[in-house]
Amino acid sequence: MSSAKILVYGPETGHHRIYLFFHGFRHDSGNRYIYFGKEKRCEKLARKCENKGMKAKYINEFTDRSANYRKIFFDNNRPYLFGLYICAYCGRLLPEDKVTVDHIYPVKIAQENPTIRKKLERKGYSSINDPRNLVCACSSCNERKSANTNGWIWKAKIGKNYFIWHIRKIIKFLICLVLIYLLLYALNCFGLIEVQLPSPEIIRSGRAVHLHLPSL
Ligand SMILES: [Zn+2]
Repeated sequence: MSSAKILVYGPETGHHRIYLFFHGFRHDSGNRYIYFGKEKRCEKLARKCENKGMKAKYINEFTDRSANYRKIFFDNNRPYLFGLYICAYCGRLLPEDKVTVDHIYPVKIAQENPTIRKKLERKGYSSINDPRNLVCACSSCNERKSANTNGWIWKAKIGKNYFIWHIRKIIKFLICLVLIYLLLYALNCFGLIEVQLPSPEIIRSGRAVHLHLPSL
């Protein structure tokens, strides 16, 4: 079970202060009191404080968005190419200031769904802000993903591996070569140009295509 804390702001009566003292709160700063404990215990205690008319804020250290999660991402990920990062969802290249750091398992889902929380704990994640749960996204993908999980989690897990984008580029290049070959073949069939199309052996040996344009 993950740890949590409760912040109680400005207990207004002596009775409130005595209650906090006997339940293990300590004075934090100014008019604020703090309590650290296990998740369930903190949830219950925060509710009790609220029922007594105190302003209590329950903070789960495992599932709450950290203030420095952006820094955690950049400390643990190098750029893809020439200082540019790549959106794990669509492959768009982004300078550092355009990167929106996305939680693969969304914060909201982890807060609402104990199964996801347990899954992350089992995998050894330190919190929802663990570097393994952070990924680069462009603002439009981040917006479209929001708190969705359907398919997006797998997309992120695959897309965060840079070699996937290298392979994709190679495949695109090969598809372009095939399309050029088919175009030349079609032009040759219609007699628009005279092309000596290479045999598969020549393609394998890497020799050039001989192209003869008809003389006007
Ligand atoms: Zn994107």
